[in-house]
Amino acid sequence: MTAPHVRWIRRPADGAGARVIHVNTSARGGGVAEIVENVTRHDIARGRRSGWAVIDAPDEFFAFTKGLHHLFHGRGDPHLLAAGGATYRQVLDRVPALLEADIRADDIVVLHDPQTLGLARWAAGRARRVYWHCHIGSLQDPDGVKGALWDFFADDLSAVDAVLVTEPGYLVGATVARVRIVRPAIDPEAPKNATMSDDEVARCLRPFGAVAADGAVVPGGRVWQDVPLPEHAPMVLQVSRWDPLKGMADVLRSTAELEPRTHVVLAGPDPAEVLDDPEGIAQLRATLQQVRALPAPVRRRVHVIALSSHDRELNALCVNALQRRADVVVQRSLEEGFGLTVTEAMFKGRPVVASHTGGIPRQIDHGVSGLLVHPGDDRAFVTAVNELLADEQMRMDIGAAAESSVRGHYLIDRLATDYDLLRH
Ligand code: UDP
Repeated sequence: MTAPHVRWIRRPADGAGARVIHVNTSARGGGVAEIVENVTRHDIARGRRSGWAVIDAPDEFFAFTKGLHHLFHGRGDPHLLAAGGATYRQVLDRVPALLEADIRADDIVVLHDPQTLGLARWAAGRARRVYWHCHIGSLQDPDGVKGALWDFFADDLSAVDAVLVTEPGYLVGATVARVRIVRPAIDPEAPKNATMSDDEVARCLRPFGAVAADGAVVPGGRVWQDVPLPEHAPMVLQVSRWDPLKGMADVLRSTAELEPRTHVVLAGPDPAEVLDDPEGIAQLRATLQQVRALPAPVRRRVHVIALSSHDRELNALCVNALQRRADVVVQRSLEEGFGLTVTEAMFKGRPVVASHTGGIPRQIDHGVSGLLVHPGDDRAFVTAVNELLADEQMRMDIGAAAESSVRGHYLIDRLATDYDLLRH
């Protein structure tokens, strides 16, 4: 087994007073990376001292933690805890030696998601306080797995000063001393969300529209499509990691029923670049197989894009441009801790049709700032999307309410303040 490494994405500056050090396992490709990137940049720009360390770990570790991810959503097989738990502990036991020299006794350590929770006991002995930020979870426990999960992490949870979580209900059954609600947020000025003109959107997306191709590499990523996206065609978009819980398959299953001129774009990170999500490659492959099996007239209206993160800014601009180009943004997740892609689309005034699960109903007031459908309900999904596509005024009204809701609740200043309170 290869040894873990620690990479400092943002090394915390020295000086008096508490520093907040974030630790996670991915610098790109998902919501946690997005949040930590934005909050540390925001803090540093305002003279607060924050740091960000990413743990690179061997494949076996991430295979186990992806299984944990599903257990946190109440799905999967708890026997994996016995099968892979020792690997998890062995890898994390080697991390303190890599981090120790950079953590001071008055630092505040924030461990993100289950990948790093196993560092809690060490961090509690080393830093002034340690928090575990749990970004995932579900209110249900369909496979009855959560009890075993909380047993596995009992000692780690008892070491943290508090758990930060999107919905307190995600922690039902766990023994934790304190819980603080900290909901995600977006940075309105970051390349992911900053205003783009129609020309800038078109220019950014041009490379993806220039080819009819099967996995062609273009500036910004790879694209699979029978024909390029027509300039004025109605477009429905889902952006997400290639993960079975994100419901890409559900979007494809419904495509034939959407208004017949509609094109569907499925976009996600290039899975080869997201090391802590080892299911991504197989999931993208499954999506492409599902596309190939569609009848030709439907397949011509589907575009699959894997966005590279080698150039972070280009990646963010591509997501931004896709979200702005979309007439309707969808998120058919089966489970969703919060769903930043929903927030990002709402901020851009897009009408969103998304699953009534996890943190999504927290963001969308059904019929006012978006439309909610039950996970897996194809009929309700198709009706909602077609209704929006047919009614420009409805799209504008819902989009305006969506933007105003995000501006009120989910901007980075609020999240930075939530983290700042941990210093006192
Ligand atoms: N994202 C990205 N590039 C991509 C695909 C996704 O930057 O190619 C971002 C997306 O814009 C969002 C985050 O990844 O900010 C996904 O967060 P979300 O909460 O929706 O889901 P998670 O991946 O954390 O489950």
